[in-house]
Amino acid sequence: MRIDVVTIFPGYFDALELSLMGKARDRGLIDLHVHDLRESAHDKHRTVDDTPTGGGAGMVMKPEPWGQAIDGILADAQSAPAAEPLIIFPSPAGDVFTQAMARELATEDHLVFGCGRYEGIDQRVFDEYAERGRVRLVSIGDYVLNGGEVASIAMIEAIGRLLPGVVGNPDSLVEESHESGLLEYPSYTKPAEWRGRRVPDVLLSGNHAAIDAWRHEQSVERTRHVRPDLLGD
Ligand code: SAM
Repeated sequence: MRIDVVTIFPGYFDALELSLMGKARDRGLIDLHVHDLRESAHDKHRTVDDTPTGGGAGMVMKPEPWGQAIDGILADAQSAPAAEPLIIFPSPAGDVFTQAMARELATEDHLVFGCGRYEGIDQRVFDEYAERGRVRLVSIGDYVLNGGEVASIAMIEAIGRLLPGVVGNPDSLVEESHESGLLEYPSYTKPAEWRGRRVPDVLLSGNHAAIDAWRHEQSVERTRHVRPDLLGD
């Protein structure tokens, strides 16, 4: 999968050189390109923001640098035989990101993330690219971050780990929270007893049917307690 990111803080994405994402990049499973928006701003101070038209607090990201940066990525993409890119703008006003959305986005060939800052990006940027192609505004939850970088990294990691070959044992993806509509059961490892706390006997029994039944019961119970909304109760 090719992923382009446009940001005024490229350094945030150094985190994606670590761990499984870093390995996936080394192995060519994820082709990540990070673009500094300020390189598409041409005044002396490389300005990317201005005051809100109509008044109000804060600053808004100017459309011209965004237009130049995204046009450049789209022109580059046209020279490759991949499918049309999907442009994602992280936004607290977008559709809420879920595991189901991560699965859907993991089928794309090319994602472009546009990281807003300040009060956000001039609306005409969304309108322009929605008219010319595919655009989604996506929120990672009902709270407000300072910028789209952390939201993009969260989405890239959730999507990236679903790509074939990124996670060594694909079985570990199947049983996770949200995959079956339930939260995952509690996990234990050795030793069998730690500070007087014992691993539940059933997990030491070797009876796989009993272990599966116990884990399912625990998943349902945990979901009912923490996230009853997932059960539709
Ligand atoms: N004024 C905007 C509003 O009320 O909707 C919030 C702007 S926020 C301070 C700056 C940027 O952070 C946004 O443009 C977006 O890229 C990102 N952001 C903030 N919260 C987010 C969230 N929950 N999900 C995704 N992106 C978020």
